Amino acid sequence: MAVVSERFDNLGADGAPVRLGLMGGTFDPVHNGHLRVAEEMREAHDLDAVLFIPAGIPVFKRDQHVTDAQARFNQVRAAVADNPYFDASPIEIQREGDTFTVDTLHQLREHYPENVEFYFIVGSDSAVTVGKWRGSAEIAKLAHLAVAVGRPGSAGEDELREAITAAGPFDYHLVRVSILEISSTDIRARLAEGKSVRYLMPDAIRAKYLSQGERAKSQALAVSSAEPGDDDVFSKAFYEARKAELEQRVSAKRFKHSLGVADACAQLAKQYGVDVDKARLAGLLHDWDKGYNDDQARARVYELNMQGEIDPQVVADMPGTLHGITAARALGQQYPGIPADVLQAISRHTTAAIDMSPLDMVLYIADAIEPNRQFGRIDELRAKVGKVTLEKLYFETYEYWVFLLFERRKPLHPDTITIWNDYAKRLPRKGPRGSGDESVSAKKHKDKDKK
Ligand code: ATP
Ligand code: MG
Repeated sequence: MAVVSERFDNLGADGAPVRLGLMGGTFDPVHNGHLRVAEEMREAHDLDAVLFIPAGIPVFKRDQHVTDAQARFNQVRAAVADNPYFDASPIEIQREGDTFTVDTLHQLREHYPENVEFYFIVGSDSAVTVGKWRGSAEIAKLAHLAVAVGRPGSAGEDELREAITAAGPFDYHLVRVSILEISSTDIRARLAEGKSVRYLMPDAIRAKYLSQGERAKSQALAVSSAEPGDDDVFSKAFYEARKAELEQRVSAKRFKHSLGVADACAQLAKQYGVDVDKARLAGLLHDWDKGYNDDQARARVYELNMQGEIDPQVVADMPGTLHGITAARALGQQYPGIPADVLQAISRHTTAAIDMSPLDMVLYIADAIEPNRQFGRIDELRAKVGKVTLEKLYFETYEYWVFLLFERRKPLHPDTITIWNDYAKRLPRKGPRGSGDESVSAKKHKDKDKK
């Protein structure tokens, strides 16, 4: 179990000198100013790592409303996930009571060996108040102070030097950094006015903030939050709005594929007596998260706080398989009206599962046979629609998919082995000693199609 940080808990264990940057703050929300300051400080002081430490209850902000600590922590962690030098630390949000920097530094000093030196990073607006921080003289002994200067509205350099010197025997460095005009206060104001915050904060966090922030905040955000009509997820308005949103989220080719899958889903559903509206919606939304690159897909797992539910090896090695499960989670949170079985189908479309429901199977098959797909034996599968049972069609599609994974020398998702073994158990063996393909019975699951 990590104590201070998942990435940097063992820093300095080999006795070599280490410089660790510490970036405290409220991060309500985290923004590109925070990230850029940390990055420039890392370069300026040759830091080996930077820990972002979201405050529990910020002493200076006791009288204003602050977003839930765990939510701020999750956002910070997602924001830094793609930078190997950065990590988020939960030590302040886990501590009871008010947050004091001096307590944090003592805790870190106890955790890390002596060869790890601390560089406490602060903006000049914050550094000028250092004399008022509890235990400031002690802080001076525990850490170097790396001050980002030039933030508008903050003290001039002389005033700053004076304030810091008066506060304790600090070893401090003033460093000019860029993107100084961004602040969380300004971002919150823009959000409240329904204005854009694009390019002020990381995209993944922005999407999350818009979709998942506190209700009051998100209600001001007409673009991405709940709109009238969202309560009826089977309305035409909802379908068209999600379609427009999807077009922004994925490539043109992926968008076309999604529309093809939605149609194929509807046709298969009609053919096999499955709910057509549910199938079409699942088809439209199944690749909702497919627009992310590998790092963004991994960050999405943290942003949605799903890291405990997914094999870390899969997150590390097979980020391409994450989009189904993250899409289902994100869509469920953003649009609570989407039924659980639709979300399940979306979640399972990438790797399938042992106990696929008819809706799950419809989406899985549609994803493979929609008209824009043109390869190998897909036509053979298409020709079987309506001629074989839904389950048989699904099994054949799955079998073909696994075959393609081998043929293309792709790694196998750990679930694939479980599912394949279940499949192999249920169906007769082919070849000399088997009884042939036509005797597929799959007794155990015989009446699934009728549900
Ligand atoms: P708020 O407006 O809510 O006070 P903030 O943008 O100042 O938010 P904090 O979480 O209070 O963000 O800041 C954490 C630390 O990062 C502080 O030391 C602050 O001075 C520094 N900081 C934040 N934004 C910038 C920026 N744009 N340039 C330099 N330093 C910054
Ligand atoms: Mg501030």
